[in-house]
Amino acid sequence: MRTSLSRNLALPLVCLIVATFMLGGRASRAQSPAWIDDYRDPAARLITEAQSSAFAWERLALLGDTFGHRLSGSEALENAIKWAVAEMKKDGLDNVRAEPVKVPHWVRGQESIEITTPFRSSLVMLGLGNSIGTPPEGVEAEVLVVRSFDELDAAGSSVRGKIVLLNVPFTSYSETVQYRSSGPSRAAKLGAVAALVRAVGPAGLRTPHTGALRYTEGVAQIPGAAIAVEDAERLQRMQNRGTKVRVRLKMDARLLPDADSANVIGEIRGRERPDDIVVVSGHFDSWDIGTGSTDDGGGCIVTWEALRLMKKLNLQPRRTVRVVLYTNEENGLAGGRAYLERHRGHLDKHVMMLESDSGVFKPTGFGFTGSAAARATVQEIATLLKGIQADQIGPAGGGADIGPSVEAGQLPAMSLEVDGNYFLIHHTPADTVDKIDPADMSKASAAIAVMAYVIADMPERLK
Ligand SMILES: [Zn+2]
Repeated sequence: MRTSLSRNLALPLVCLIVATFMLGGRASRAQSPAWIDDYRDPAARLITEAQSSAFAWERLALLGDTFGHRLSGSEALENAIKWAVAEMKKDGLDNVRAEPVKVPHWVRGQESIEITTPFRSSLVMLGLGNSIGTPPEGVEAEVLVVRSFDELDAAGSSVRGKIVLLNVPFTSYSETVQYRSSGPSRAAKLGAVAALVRAVGPAGLRTPHTGALRYTEGVAQIPGAAIAVEDAERLQRMQNRGTKVRVRLKMDARLLPDADSANVIGEIRGRERPDDIVVVSGHFDSWDIGTGSTDDGGGCIVTWEALRLMKKLNLQPRRTVRVVLYTNEENGLAGGRAYLERHRGHLDKHVMMLESDSGVFKPTGFGFTGSAAARATVQEIATLLKGIQADQIGPAGGGADIGPSVEAGQLPAMSLEVDGNYFLIHHTPADTVDKIDPADMSKASAAIAVMAYVIADMPERLK
């Protein structure tokens, strides 16, 4: 109600202003404040530089080709962290460092699942992160397929002793992911001996998606695994025909003692207010399949790239721009929590935190959460990104890793928004660099560079 009323009043006023400027021949900049004009040239230079090469994509390809996937606790992640520190130094960034973080160390080991009755046939699976393993001979039981938690609960005592399959069609990630994270404990509560979930993602080419499960305290822990959509539907059809199906699940998965890891940090120190910090970030760990190029190697490289571009063009903003490559987003969030603990004392110096963790497909703009005044400023800055069609500011911004700090400090938060099939690829063996277009990565780097530079440099702090 209130919105439409104020819009009714505002429209004639806006028309009048636009008409006035049109008479003066300046219609396109009718509502732009003067300060933004100072940023047209640096923004254009950052965009041109980002688009002049495929540097970001090449760096992402090198990361994946050299180290492979980067699960917390793995040697690959730690080697990649050392590489990132060395590369940031080569880029000429300031205060490059690795801030130590203890991370959970889950390992998958060998795993398989096969139908044993009415005939032998193997299925495509991925154990869920943090899952316990099975005994060496595996767990064999009859399968009970359900389409929802309601169907599971309705099955009641018939769940006991079964391997439950939660065959829930993908709607949105936020809606469907609950079946992966809490499905195993919900099934265990009713006496299931293992839980399978239909891969959480749109139907792919018989490609399962891993991801973390979360055991409910006080409930027996049972092994949990994802199976491909095609296999879940097959088991569903067999059950619908009245066929009794037994499967054997074998998983070596186990949790080892916590391991040493680190958040990687690099900066461009501010020329006037170096203690004020604008953070751009991604998470450097990935699942232990594919190369974690979309989730979230790409997010790390494009945010890091924002600083490299500024450095290359000798653009030193008034405030500090800091890139953080968080560790352990996927199965613990220890990196995001450790950042908060280490920097809690000067959270108020954090001007804004941005995370890119939705893939680096064609950028459309940013999500933003913060005050109305800050939103208006961010919207103004986004007009500098019209040329690369990345000027949309969405209703909400944030990210898993920046979450703890953003919440504790009530900080403005942003996320890179992209147009791409992220949930088809992420957490699968198909998460590799060839799914990413170098031109999209250049645009994403440019958009983040312009946004971070202007927020760090503008005369007034973002409020
Ligand atoms: Zn991610």
